[in-house]
Amino acid sequence: MEAFPRILKLDAGGLPVEWIDWREAVSLYFTQKIAWEAGTEKIRLRGGRCRDTGLPSALEIDSIIAVRDRSHRFARGLVPPLSRRELFHRDGGLCLYCGIRMHFRDMQIEHVMPRSRGGAHEWTNVVAACEGCNRHKDNRSPEEAGLKLLALPYEPNLAEWLILANRRILSDQQAFLERLAPQRNRKLN
Ligand SMILES: [Zn+2]
Repeated sequence: MEAFPRILKLDAGGLPVEWIDWREAVSLYFTQKIAWEAGTEKIRLRGGRCRDTGLPSALEIDSIIAVRDRSHRFARGLVPPLSRRELFHRDGGLCLYCGIRMHFRDMQIEHVMPRSRGGAHEWTNVVAACEGCNRHKDNRSPEEAGLKLLALPYEPNLAEWLILANRRILSDQQAFLERLAPQRNRKLN
């Protein structure tokens, strides 16, 4: 059921936790785990017919739901996973050395300080790069290779990461997450 947008799940303190699909959301409604709803959009699901009345049943799921469970334990202080797709979107689909616009499949994960020289595999040491720049830079620092970064790599907070991780985000979800994302002066596009 890819047709349905995903639901933004918050912890009971109002911090974003993760995207869930409509099935998970339905089960949270049925088990009465919803603390409150925070969206302005509703996703309407049609069920079968009600056994007693014979009328079609329907359930409305809010686009943003705060849930009473233990998920906050994972959400706080979590470093969002460093994944290829989210890195690609963080860097605007550009090679951060030459600025060329890339297809996702052509993007390479480039370690600013090479791993062989102690560079870490973490958000603040990786950028999206094209194959040409990656090959040219090789086992060198950007300075040694005569390359300049168009923007500094940063570690997204969870709200930013959730924006990067969902390409079909609803406008109220986007607005909610943007309020929790730090301001960054990073003009790439
Ligand atoms: Zn490049």
